[in-house]
Amino acid sequence: PIDCEPLKALVRTVPDFPKPGILFYDITTLLKDRKGFAEMIDAFAQHYIGSDVDLVLGIEARGFIFGPALAYRLNAGFVPVRKPRKLPAPTAKVTYDLEYGSDSLEIHVDAIEPGQKVILVDDLLATGGTMEATIKLVQQLGGEIAGLAFAVELDFLRGREKFAHYDVFSLLHYD
Ligand code: 5GP
Repeated sequence: PIDCEPLKALVRTVPDFPKPGILFYDITTLLKDRKGFAEMIDAFAQHYIGSDVDLVLGIEARGFIFGPALAYRLNAGFVPVRKPRKLPAPTAKVTYDLEYGSDSLEIHVDAIEPGQKVILVDDLLATGGTMEATIKLVQQLGGEIAGLAFAVELDFLRGREKFAHYDVFSLLHYD
């Protein structure tokens, strides 16, 4: 296992973004660091190497940064899960609750064959609502969930408790 403290030091925290009172964990400062980015993708790959993964699925938008790099390393395909009305072919859709209102995510109905092994990737685990919705999409298509991967996990929000039945791998933890 790698020493994660230097990677944590590359994540920038921004107070009051996108709203007053919210502390935003900004990973762009980690992404632009060549050593940091490589170490992060290597650590993800290490966790899954040797397991049989067909697809890596990334959640728009920041899951699109890590997902393809990991897919390449695992010899897997990449599938985008997108905000509404972005995907051109027939889609499956899931709607989930936010603090105020709701949001939706879509996937191409032919993106996953029943029984294919899929890893779901996003940049950050907070309450887990986004990932929970994405799991429903994968289940609708008959995919088998091989793991959930996050660059950052906000441990104090206990999002992980939603995913007791899955392998949840987060690189950087914040209390
Ligand atoms: P959740 O659904 O787990 O409550 O929120 C996670 C989603 O919101 C992820 O898609 C993530 O990109 C975004 N998100 C929420 N807070 C932050 C944050 O502080 N930093 C980053 N980079 N993304 C966040």
